[in-house]
Amino acid sequence: MHSTDVIIIGAGAAGLMCALTAACRGRRVVLLDHANKPGKKILMSGGGRCNFTNMYTEPANFLSQNPHFCKSALARYTQWDFIEMVAKHGVPYHEKKLGQLFCDNKSSDILQMLLDECASAGADLRMDTRIEQIEKTTYGYQLATSAGPFQCQSLVIATGGLSIPTLGATGFGYQVARQFGHSLLPTRAGLVPFTITDQLKALCTELSGTSVDCIASCNGTSFRENLLFTHRGLSGPAILQISSFWEAGDSVEINLLPDHDALAWLQQQQAERPNSELKTLLGEIFTKKMANLLAETWFVSKPMKQYTPAELAQVADKLGAWQLVPAGTEGYRTAEVTLGGVDTREVSSKTMESLKSPGLYFIGEVLDVSGHLGGFNFQWAWASAYAAAQFV
Ligand SMILES: Cc1cc2nc3c(=O)[nH]c(=O)nc-3n(C[C@H](O)[C@H](O)[C@H](O)COP(=O)(O)OP(=O)(O)OC[C@H]3O[C@@H](n4cnc5c(N)ncnc54)[C@H](O)[C@@H]3O)c2cc1C
Repeated sequence: MHSTDVIIIGAGAAGLMCALTAACRGRRVVLLDHANKPGKKILMSGGGRCNFTNMYTEPANFLSQNPHFCKSALARYTQWDFIEMVAKHGVPYHEKKLGQLFCDNKSSDILQMLLDECASAGADLRMDTRIEQIEKTTYGYQLATSAGPFQCQSLVIATGGLSIPTLGATGFGYQVARQFGHSLLPTRAGLVPFTITDQLKALCTELSGTSVDCIASCNGTSFRENLLFTHRGLSGPAILQISSFWEAGDSVEINLLPDHDALAWLQQQQAERPNSELKTLLGEIFTKKMANLLAETWFVSKPMKQYTPAELAQVADKLGAWQLVPAGTEGYRTAEVTLGGVDTREVSSKTMESLKSPGLYFIGEVLDVSGHLGGFNFQWAWASAYAAAQFV
């Protein structure tokens, strides 16, 4: 029987951060993962450049049934703390936009930094290890694994959510939570592209690869970012952001003229350029191809002077408040996060310890805390891991 102070299951962002921090405190830490390599999502993240935090992180950037839960951990390990570690390791980075910090080189810089910190603090990382059973004992927890039995005082679940099963995601953390009496909130894919199957599918396919600035809104929340047409529907940061607020059957509103009041702009064009065709004017804002396709799909393009006030209002409605009901999302296959998960009302916001089973901790994405797009999910992984590491 291998006996240790702390076992962390899941060598992803949260697990590695918790391991290095607890090991720095002098705790004997074993980090177990069933995958063949640690931190696969870190490597894939940010298009290979890892958007490792956001300079403007605040609790409002997170979704949870219990919105106050994330505040304490985020305040005790901030984006500036993580940036300090990145700077200490000489990892070059830059702000891409909106406070989003990316590696100049590769995501592997961040993973290597975490692995180096784990190694120098003495955390014992064991990959290719399947967890077969977990039991509570008087000592703490006992684990049956493919690498033999382990026991520990503190057991940390850092197995993440369901997004991207090919990167090692499983529902294991939820299973452990259920085993120890925790409630789970329904999970669904977040930060995920929409699929379109109605008559708009042809438009999306034709425009696949085209990106436009827009305001996407759903259920009272809006994001101004780029929208990207794809072969299957819609993607791009505006769509990924709003997808976390969308549930099946909800309508999404897209304003394709975010810098204008659509009707006022059309009326002004009608007054100033009465002989110009609508698609010519749209071609000055969008690509020519997009302008032509929008004009063919939604309107009868004619010289501006020929539009009646009612027709102009209809055009404004489409351009400024395009309503669409996505058929669905691309699901966990491509989602960046899993919404829902372990109900935080049964976990201490100070220590991340289970209120149902002492010595059991949940950190990272397995909890019902999901960030907006832009480095917030990693910041939650770092902060929740750091919080737990002070107490394990
Ligand atoms: C393609 C992609 C790009 C992303 N880009 C960004 C970005 O740029 N910025 C950002 O902030 N967020 C990004 N995210 C989200 C971010 O990666 C996650 O929120 C974050 O990794 C969650 O950390 P975690 O440690 O909780 O889980 P994970 O990083 O998913 O780690 C979980 C670990 O647990 C292991 N595990 C799972 N099941 C078991 C089991 N049964 N037994 C043993 N081990 C198990 C897995 O192998 C994995 O190593 C991205 C996500 C994806 C999918």
